[in-house]
Amino acid sequence: MSSDEAEYMRRMADALRSGAKMLADQCPVCNSPLFEIKGQIWCLKCNKRVIRVSSEEEVEEAFTGITLNELLKTLTTKMEEVNIALKRVADPREIKDLTETLISLLKALELASNLREHFTD
Ligand SMILES: [Zn+2]
Repeated sequence: MSSDEAEYMRRMADALRSGAKMLADQCPVCNSPLFEIKGQIWCLKCNKRVIRVSSEEEVEEAFTGITLNELLKTLTTKMEEVNIALKRVADPREIKDLTETLISLLKALELASNLREHFTD
């Protein structure tokens, strides 16, 4: 058994132990049985969330871009908040803290944007 298969078996065992339900649907990518875990549908072989796209049992891989877009939105909001805070503070230490936070956010934003490009093409 390859390590991938061992990993798949382990994920399946974990999922079933935590109350996951095996569905009649199959993964559109690898044809493995899909699992319902806490209201979400997962392919444990691909280790990806799958979403139903129509009333006929049709399924499609969840687009990772959705999560990244949400992350980008969150990061942008946080940057705005830090920016507002930065305008208010006068204490050099606080300014330093906020600037460092801003730098981390900018780095995260850059990484997330790069990842999004990677997923969109
Ligand atoms: Zn799959």
